[in-house]
Amino acid sequence: MLDVLVVGGGLAGLTAARTLDRAGQRVRVLEAAPEVGGRVRSRVVDGFTLDAGFQVLFPAYPAVRRQLDLPALDLVPLPSGAAVRRGARVNLLGDPLRDPGALAGTLGGRVLPLADKLRVARMAAQLRVPAPHALLRGPDEPTETYLRRQGLSEAALNAFFRPFFGGIFLRRDLSTSARLFRYYFRMLLDGGAALPRAGMGAISAQLAAGLDLVTGVEVTRLCPQGTHVTAVTSAGDLDARQVIVATDPPRAQALTGEATGLTGVGSTYLYYAAPHQIDPERRLLLNAEPGLINNAHWTSQAVPGRAPAGQHLLSVTVLGVPAEDDAALDTAVRAELAGWYGAQATAQLRLLGTERLPYAQYAQPPEYAHTLPGHATALNGVLLASEVTSMSGIQGALESGEKAAAIVLGDLAAQSRPRGA
Ligand SMILES: Cc1cc2nc3c(=O)[nH]c(=O)nc-3n(C[C@H](O)[C@H](O)[C@H](O)COP(=O)(O)OP(=O)(O)OC[C@H]3O[C@@H](n4cnc5c(N)ncnc54)[C@H](O)[C@@H]3O)c2cc1C
Repeated sequence: MLDVLVVGGGLAGLTAARTLDRAGQRVRVLEAAPEVGGRVRSRVVDGFTLDAGFQVLFPAYPAVRRQLDLPALDLVPLPSGAAVRRGARVNLLGDPLRDPGALAGTLGGRVLPLADKLRVARMAAQLRVPAPHALLRGPDEPTETYLRRQGLSEAALNAFFRPFFGGIFLRRDLSTSARLFRYYFRMLLDGGAALPRAGMGAISAQLAAGLDLVTGVEVTRLCPQGTHVTAVTSAGDLDARQVIVATDPPRAQALTGEATGLTGVGSTYLYYAAPHQIDPERRLLLNAEPGLINNAHWTSQAVPGRAPAGQHLLSVTVLGVPAEDDAALDTAVRAELAGWYGAQATAQLRLLGTERLPYAQYAQPPEYAHTLPGHATALNGVLLASEVTSMSGIQGALESGEKAAAIVLGDLAAQSRPRGA
């Protein structure tokens, strides 16, 4: 009999399984999808490497530093700053996070009131002081309220904070918990953002290496039997002394009965191939105007191996999951891109794929952390992992997997590690 069955091969499940495997437990991962990784996957289409939605790694996440072999991921740091688009007009911002003095920098000075420069510098100085995890404690409020209390202008919110953090929290309204904003801001200050050269899926592949894992098998029910748990799966029953449910929050709720009350936040990604260089920009492109596009990135400019030689890869982020079909969405996004690059250049773009993710993250409004479930469930022998116990992000998934494994192993030090540490 297995010691531990892990249900779900996303970052949380893989981290739990790897920790247990290294501790000598007999552990198996069952993953419903044809491949592991959950929300952190990549695929190759016509020689282009497409991530399952545009996301980046913050190398400063403490759990990332513990769990991942970063040199082996061959991380390519994303250039700091951003290019703020207002139709055909583009203003380059220095990095207001890593280099606060540059917020109103050379060209950006014309876009943003100068006073914002000092205010972001002050905010960054304050947020550098505490231990990062301490930023997740204390009074909470919407990020917008916090930024306004810092004295940031409407121009700074619209040109940078809404589209930039919209790309991270997948909402442009800055309604996310200010505690979480401060934590992410600190992560960016400490380590910037990076992409593995071979795609975000390399993170999952690294965690999965050497594990006993079976893909294409869905666990449909968990039946505690006193001494063990029987998992009913699409490939028959399987017994294990303990089970860790590391699925996405909706399916964790279905399997364990633990109500999470979390609301999914969706996002949609369009990937385009270009036969010529349309824009040499390597920085993140932020759309400061209302529209479908929140942000975009010429990923192959920053990470050349992501496109075949001589070709270029553009990733476009649309927040939410629009009702129109892929063709209509492509047309609408192209109309906005034509406003950036002109109709002739935009006509050269070839749609490689559209990724619609109705549950990319869960909404994290102020005080959301008080409502999260713990690792214990009402089912005897069944523990919960996944971002659902922590925060909707890579740090949350990794630390949740670590803690579920620590409970199995009786590792009190790891169990009592604060959230975000
Ligand atoms: C587009 C996008 C952008 C993001 N941006 C960022 C970012 O910039 N920074 C950041 O930190 N985080 C980001 N995130 C969030 C981060 O990717 C997730 O928090 C993290 O990957 C969640 O991992 P998980 O293991 O908890 O869940 P998942 O990745 O959802 O893994 C759960 C796994 O369980 C499997 N499963 C479900 N039900 C069953 C079943 N019954 N039987 C067997 N298997 C099952 C699923 O197929 C899946 O593989 C982003 C996510 C997306 C999608």
